[in-house]
Amino acid sequence: MDSATIYFSIGFDACAMIIVAVIMVNYYTIKRIYTRTEKLFQLLMGTLLLSALLNMAYVSAYAFNLGERIPALYYFIVMLMVIGTHSVGIFFMLYVVSECYENRPLPRNFMYIAVGIICAIGAAVAVYGCLFGMGLDTSALLVIMYAEHYAALALSAAYVYVNRKIISRRKQANIILFIAFNVLATILQFIVQAQVTAFAEAVAVMLIYATLRNPKDVIDPLTQQFNMQAFKDFARRFIASRRKFILFITNFRNYGAITAIWGQRAEELICEKARRLKGAVKKSIYVYRLADARFAIMFSGEAEFEEFRQKYLELLKQPYKIGETVVPAENIAMAIRFPEVASKYNDIESIIKFYRDNYGGNEPVYEASREAIEQVERREKVDYAIQRAIRLHSFQVYYQPIYDLKAKKFTCCEALVRLKDDELGFIPPDEFIPQAEQNGTIIEVGRQVVEEVCSFVKHCKPETLGIDFIDVNLSIIQCLQPDVIEDIKGILKDYDVPRGMVNLEITETASAKSYAILQQRLDELHSNGFTISLDDFGTGFSSVEFLINFPFDIVKLDRSLVWAYMKEDKYEPILQHYMPMLHSLGTKIVAEGVETQEMVKALDGLGCDYLQGYYYSRPMPKEDFINFLKERQTPSAEN
Ligand code: C2E
Ligand code: CA
Ligand code: CA
Repeated sequence: MDSATIYFSIGFDACAMIIVAVIMVNYYTIKRIYTRTEKLFQLLMGTLLLSALLNMAYVSAYAFNLGERIPALYYFIVMLMVIGTHSVGIFFMLYVVSECYENRPLPRNFMYIAVGIICAIGAAVAVYGCLFGMGLDTSALLVIMYAEHYAALALSAAYVYVNRKIISRRKQANIILFIAFNVLATILQFIVQAQVTAFAEAVAVMLIYATLRNPKDVIDPLTQQFNMQAFKDFARRFIASRRKFILFITNFRNYGAITAIWGQRAEELICEKARRLKGAVKKSIYVYRLADARFAIMFSGEAEFEEFRQKYLELLKQPYKIGETVVPAENIAMAIRFPEVASKYNDIESIIKFYRDNYGGNEPVYEASREAIEQVERREKVDYAIQRAIRLHSFQVYYQPIYDLKAKKFTCCEALVRLKDDELGFIPPDEFIPQAEQNGTIIEVGRQVVEEVCSFVKHCKPETLGIDFIDVNLSIIQCLQPDVIEDIKGILKDYDVPRGMVNLEITETASAKSYAILQQRLDELHSNGFTISLDDFGTGFSSVEFLINFPFDIVKLDRSLVWAYMKEDKYEPILQHYMPMLHSLGTKIVAEGVETQEMVKALDGLGCDYLQGYYYSRPMPKEDFINFLKERQTPSAEN
């Protein structure tokens, strides 16, 4: 080494130390998350700092000709420099592998390899030291040391390649850059003898540092666990790697009620839950807080999950407390298996959604099923189909005739909406109406049905075939809209349809909150000339009070009640008691679900006014319905 090379080397080492020191200061003051990977990154930084320092010491010792002056000290410094330089490769590999195994315990055999390499370095250094001490040629051993260093780097590259789907692109690029810089520095060292390795590595480490997560972005401030953002990012990468894993999700079923009572203090339960979960998993496994009291944990193996499951079941026995008060927090949890049950990130959201709406089980850890995902996907598709049909005005309305026992002919009918979708085919109203009610589209669906019915009345003139009125189903959601009456009146007016032609059917719901508004709305409808039926009587909580307070013109006995009446004797006295009561209120009675001649007889005997059911006809398209009426209505009835 000439003096220029010496200054050159010392300068680069000093720069390396400054870079690493700055990163470390930054790291410890700003970016700091305690994960295994980051601990290893800290170790890597520390080793690098030390290695640069030792390298500087070595170059200085060389410059001062220490080898000849104090050989023992010189020998010692060289030893330390060799160990330091080569440890960087090892710690780099440890860091890379940990990165590949983020959120999972490190593989056992990997630990053996790491320990093996460190022992090998120790042995090599010892032998190197002896040869050096004896003044023998050490260059062969130096080659072995380099080989070891590059073996560690090559192994790191291999790990990155195998796990390329798990590690972010930027991080991958920086890890590869670290290796490339090493190669360049080694070449440079052989050409000009300058020691620039530490500097090159420091630059690469700085780039890696830039890819470390910012705690503010990924840590939940309340529980100090990872947040939803981190979960999304990690779960997505895990799924992309097509690895098998088990996702555990847990929540408090009654968290809403708990916050309603405890307010802000309910957060104590969340913190406690986070602590318990974190305590039940291996250190390397992360706990993610997804929302309120919902947490997730990912397990990469069955055994690991089973071990946790046992601990979780134990935890369930401990009560949750706020202060000294035991809070009856109900833990619910489920396991989602990838890729058997779920295969994409959206599946997680689907399953969460499904169990939020449908959770009824009592198992402490529910096994999420493929069906749950399929049901949610179906729901989403049906939602789209509804929106499509609204846009294209493609709902169809079928008509089911209703037989008037006194007049002995069909004097009314029920309009029933039909949805045929190009992709999904026929979607039964029992499926899409409740969905439309949930997402609010029912208001527009209902409006289109009324329009279609009015258009039918205007163009086909069913009144000339003996039809006095048409039943239109009015959803409670629709009924509670402030402008519903104006809306319906407007449509009727557009088509010149008299108000008496449309009879509105509503189903009683048990919601007391809307009771007053409903009553007011029904009164208004009445005073605006509409008649109203109470639909599905006998299914819900139909109370006498409801019947008395609401001005129903017609009550429709639900088909389940009608069928029960036909089958079981105990229903007979009940219905026989109800019939005169309803009649005395001036209400007409329709029996639904009439399928046989025997039923016609029995229901006529009971005192029903109208009968509706497959015995007479299924609901049919308007053309068929008109033909049906033309064939069935006796000429004497037509006037
Ligand atoms: P709903 O109002 O109780 O309508 C009667 C249902 O019973 C109809 O089913 C009809 O096809 C069926 N039905 C009639 N006679 C018989 C019979 O003898 N046996 C059997 N097994 N079934 C019979 P649909 O058309 O599938 O409608 C199901 C429900 O969807 C309706 O029940 C109603 O709640 C809702 N719905 C249908 N159209 C509309 C609409 O335009 N608006 C709103 N809001 N809801 C509607
Ligand atoms: Ca109905
Ligand atoms: Ca009904």
